[in-house]
Amino acid sequence: MYPNVNLFIDGAWRPAISGKMLPVLNPATGEEIGAVGHAEKADLDLALAAAQRGFETWRKVSAHERYRLMRRAADILRSRAGDIATVMTMEQGKPLAESKGETLAGADVIDWFAEEARRAYGRTVPARVEGVYQLEIKEPVGPVAAFTPWNFPINQAVRKISCAVAAGCSIIIKGPEETPAACAGLVGAFVEAGIPAGVINLVFGVPAEISSYLIPHPVIRKISFTGSTAVGKQLAALAGAHMKRVTMELGGHAPAIVFADADIDAATKILSANKYRNAGQVCVSPTRFLVQQPVYGEFVDKFVTAAKAIKVGDGLDKDTRMGPLAHSRRLDAIEGFVADAVAKGAKVETGGRRIGNKGYFFEPTVLTNVSREARIMNEEPFGPVAIVNSFDTFEEAVGEANRLPYGLAAYAYTRSTKTAEAIGHAIESGMVSINHHGLALPEVRFGGVKDSGFGSEGGADALDAYLNTKFITQMNA
Ligand code: NAD
Repeated sequence: MYPNVNLFIDGAWRPAISGKMLPVLNPATGEEIGAVGHAEKADLDLALAAAQRGFETWRKVSAHERYRLMRRAADILRSRAGDIATVMTMEQGKPLAESKGETLAGADVIDWFAEEARRAYGRTVPARVEGVYQLEIKEPVGPVAAFTPWNFPINQAVRKISCAVAAGCSIIIKGPEETPAACAGLVGAFVEAGIPAGVINLVFGVPAEISSYLIPHPVIRKISFTGSTAVGKQLAALAGAHMKRVTMELGGHAPAIVFADADIDAATKILSANKYRNAGQVCVSPTRFLVQQPVYGEFVDKFVTAAKAIKVGDGLDKDTRMGPLAHSRRLDAIEGFVADAVAKGAKVETGGRRIGNKGYFFEPTVLTNVSREARIMNEEPFGPVAIVNSFDTFEEAVGEANRLPYGLAAYAYTRSTKTAEAIGHAIESGMVSINHHGLALPEVRFGGVKDSGFGSEGGADALDAYLNTKFITQMNA
């Protein structure tokens, strides 16, 4: 039922030239369910040559035609959402409903950027002299190298592919080796919609080998990466050394601030659902819960009740609300974070342990009284652990929220419009969601500041990252 996944280069699905494959495991069982092609330099050279040719073809295709093809791809992706969701859950672990939602949301992203393709306006600048026309026009930046992770096999890839295709670029995407089939399903939708050979190329392999070969390569003109801050800094440095444009969507450590005047029931419901979504392996996951002293006890009680009610299991089971962690590295990391926090005085209110010895399941966990010295208060946990501490004043909450070098997402709950307005401005973060969870829609900005990265993968500015602006001044002869 789970397909082996090949590389997609120059318009054809093909095995790696070496014939090598990497195993794909089901995180709910730890068992091997399939394999993915392992690209090496010879495969990358084919992809680079194809991307160069694909760019020469695609840049000449009108924005209207690009739009039409993308809308077809979105419809095809929607029509396959059920099948793709099943393989996504098998390889990644998230519940089937989350996999299907991600696939359908991916189709919406394609639609949005299809429309944006038709709005890649330039401008005319009034000239100082009669008979002179000053134009600023948008041109595709060129072949893109993109690197996407395993936590959202479609949603991380679709933002990069859609931007590139809409702008008239070609793209080589290094997909997630742990979760390749859903990403291949996404590329398949573009293929069936008629994308010309070379415009989209999909490779898998050893991430560091691929990035260190593609980023400096002269064919590649733009880099886009989603993943950890540590890796993002290395890739941005390499891109900088070769003067390549970058978009970096990196880690976060989102503060979730609950003021004493908040609707505690709504805050608990929304924040717990988002904390344990995708087993916490979400860059915008609420992580450092800061709860004002008068409602701290009530919030902890209600949040713990919500965490305990979550049914953990194989994502293919209908009743499952939270699946396993995506791979064994995360399990080891989360066990380490919890042990370290407990050694430094944290209280485990619920959870804190691995479930069973098959698959990579971890209990929905709530820690309180967590020391600032604990690693989990400083490093992105990327797992199903809520850290809940109390605060007294607005200034204290803002100080803690802004303490870390991360600045991706932040959340706040309050019934006071004055407090809401103040907190929205005080937090150093690319995105702030107040009294609801309203992030990651195609039409709104998605990106961080500080160590969380650079650029946006959503909203009206996103396409610009894949376009150059050229100035042409022309005088009537
Ligand atoms: P990791 O840091 O090794 O890898 C993170 C991602 O980067 C993976 O997709 C990996 O394939 C890729 N990667 C790693 N080294 C690379 C390189 N040299 N060149 C190109 N790509 C490279 O660790 P991991 O165990 O896979 O994930 C752990 C951490 O990564 C998490 O704690 C989290 O902080 C971060 N992460 C963030 C996101 C996100 O959405 N921002 C997604 C996945 C992982």
